[in-house]
Amino acid sequence: MNAGGIPIFMYHSIAPLPNEATHELSVSPAAFAEQMEVLRCLGCTPLTTARLAWHWRNPDRPLPTRPVLITFDDGYEGVHRYALPVLGKHEFASTLFLATGWLRGKYDTGGGLDTMLGWDQVRELAEAGTEIGGHSHTHPQLDQLSDDALWFEVVRCKEIVTNELGTPPESFAYPYGYSSRRVRRAVRGAGFRQSLAVGNGLACRRQGPYALRRVTVRRSTGPEEFERLAEGRGLGRAFARDRVLTKGYAMVRRCRQARRKAARTRV
Ligand SMILES: [Zn+2]
Repeated sequence: MNAGGIPIFMYHSIAPLPNEATHELSVSPAAFAEQMEVLRCLGCTPLTTARLAWHWRNPDRPLPTRPVLITFDDGYEGVHRYALPVLGKHEFASTLFLATGWLRGKYDTGGGLDTMLGWDQVRELAEAGTEIGGHSHTHPQLDQLSDDALWFEVVRCKEIVTNELGTPPESFAYPYGYSSRRVRRAVRGAGFRQSLAVGNGLACRRQGPYALRRVTVRRSTGPEEFERLAEGRGLGRAFARDRVLTKGYAMVRRCRQARRKAARTRV
C-alpha cells in the first residue's frame, strides 16, 4: 500500500500560534489531533525509529500493517503539552530528536527557537513510549563543521541524553536534514545505529540506515494532503489520483463520522 516505502512524518513545534522562528514548521494542536485520527482511521501502526530499524535488520520479523513513523525534531515544549496526550490516547509510538543544547536546564546554550522542553518532560515522554534520539547539541549544519566540532556535536548530544535518561540514544536526525559521508560516518562512529534525513520522500531500506528520508508536516498541510502522505502517495513516484485514493478518503470520512456519532452517544 505504501508504494514500497514508509512515511516518516517530521514535526517540529506543536503550538496554537506559530512564532516568527517556527511558523510553517509549527503545527496546531487541533491539526495534530486530526492527523493522528487519520492514522487511526487508515489502520496505520506508528513505530519508533529503533523499531523500524530492528524490523529491517531482522527480515524474518515482518513489519506490522501500514507502518508509519511520527517524529519530532529539536525538543519543543508543545510536544509534551499537546502531542503527548493525543499519542497516549491512541497508544502511538513516536520519536523525539533532541538538540540537547536547546533544552531548558543545565545544558542550555540559548539557541531554542521557541519554548523548549525541560528534562523532566523528556523523561515523561520516554516513559510514555517515545523514543529519545539525538539531533546534535547546538543544531549546526553538521556538514559545514571541522572534524573536531562535528565530533563534539554528535558525542556531546549522546552523552547528555545518556546521562539524563540512563540509556544511550540509538537514533539520530541531522539538523536541517544535512549530511555528507563524513557526517554519516561520525554519527555511526559515535554509536548511533540509524539516522534520518529530510528529502521529502518515503523511507526505504535501500536508502541505508543513515540516510532515511522523511516527510515534512507543515502548518499548511491539510487533512486530505496528510491522508495522501500517510498512504504513501503524492511523494516520490508519481501516483494518479485514482479510484483507490478516492476510496481511501471515503473510508476515512466514514470512520470519522462513526467516531463522532459514538462520541455523541457517550455524551
Ligand atoms: Zn532541527
